[in-house]
Amino acid sequence: MTGLVEEMERLGSELVPVAELGKPGHVNRDLVVALGGAGLFSRLFGEGGVTATMLCQVRQGLARSCTEAETAFAVQGLGGVPIHLFGSDSVKERWLPGARTGELVMAFALTEPGAGSDAGSLSMAAERDGGTFRLTGTKTYISNAPEADVATVFARTTPEVGARGVTAFVVPTDLPGVTGRTVEMISNHPIGEWIFDGVSVPAENILGEPDHGFGVAMTTLDLFRPSVGAFALGMAETALRIAVEHAQTREAFGSPLSEFQGVAHQLADVRVGIEAATHLVYNAAAAYDRGERETLTGRSAMAKLAATETAQRAVDVAIQVLGARGLESDSTLAHLYTEVRAPRIYEGTSEIQRNIIARELFRGHL
Ligand SMILES: Cc1cc2nc3c(=O)[nH]c(=O)nc-3n(C[C@H](O)[C@H](O)[C@H](O)COP(=O)(O)OP(=O)(O)OC[C@H]3O[C@@H](n4cnc5c(N)ncnc54)[C@H](O)[C@@H]3O)c2cc1C
Repeated sequence: MTGLVEEMERLGSELVPVAELGKPGHVNRDLVVALGGAGLFSRLFGEGGVTATMLCQVRQGLARSCTEAETAFAVQGLGGVPIHLFGSDSVKERWLPGARTGELVMAFALTEPGAGSDAGSLSMAAERDGGTFRLTGTKTYISNAPEADVATVFARTTPEVGARGVTAFVVPTDLPGVTGRTVEMISNHPIGEWIFDGVSVPAENILGEPDHGFGVAMTTLDLFRPSVGAFALGMAETALRIAVEHAQTREAFGSPLSEFQGVAHQLADVRVGIEAATHLVYNAAAAYDRGERETLTGRSAMAKLAATETAQRAVDVAIQVLGARGLESDSTLAHLYTEVRAPRIYEGTSEIQRNIIARELFRGHL
């Protein structure tokens, strides 16, 4: 779509050897440092403001060639952007330089065992104790946990008021009382759980205002949601490219597969889906960048829903067109098959996106 997408696709290709040295379920620190060295985190937490369009272009490009690099970039961004947008000067000076180089690995810890889609009901307690808060509870399915060095953690400072009683904290994860474990997923995604047992966090580590942390989370997710769609687009484009090449070269019954309508129409439908989702993703990003708050929530939800569902279909169709070859475990499509599933779940499931779209529709915002 633009020069930056192609530039990121090339960078992703260069990073594949570094990505391949990573261990499933664990943070690949060399990869995070390589992304920092390429200046990508300075685009997120640097002097100039982050734009949703840039974020989408970087994610789409990296996703085309190296999903591990894409995910490492995105999760570092998700953990660091709340500090960039809501941290005090001293908090930013303390944590962002290391986040920019990739030497400090970041995470965004919202989900709990009892609070996934309904994140506003989270129960991790943050109890004031003089100039500190004591954090007690569990965060689960957190990308980069438990190895990340610094996490943006959302905890409850006021009970029984739902999303209105949540506060965001910056938490260095080497504090006494923090323990964790890795969770292995079907994709090669660094993810795990943290248990906080009375962890003492200084009040100066609060991001934004006490009890307004849910707004910190939602502002961050408003920025990132279209870009989950961009990640999906990059995967869908790669799957389609592989399927088109194969359909033009593989022969059966005396013809290339592309001559069979049953094959060609599936690929045509995927191409339409990608084109439509591309417009939705970049329209939502443009709405964010123009500050169109009223339409943004609905547009972002439409973009994420359309792009992630399209990508799932694109990868499935591509495997069908390649036949058995598409399922060889070291093939790109088999890799994409495991990577494409999670974006329909994180940062709001497809069902939650539909709920948001319907709500915004009835409010007259769409
Ligand atoms: C790879 C991966 C990485 C992740 N990384 C992070 C991270 O870095 N930080 C973080 O905080 N979290 C992270 N998550 C967690 C993710 O945000 C949650 O999994 C997600 O919000 C869904 O929550 P849940 O899994 O508890 O599902 P649930 O909320 O239990 O939902 C289960 C099912 O019920 C449906 N459902 C729930 N409510 C409704 C409703 N009102 N209407 C219709 N259907 C509904 C859902 O759509 C889903 O199909 C990650 C998850 C994955 C898979």
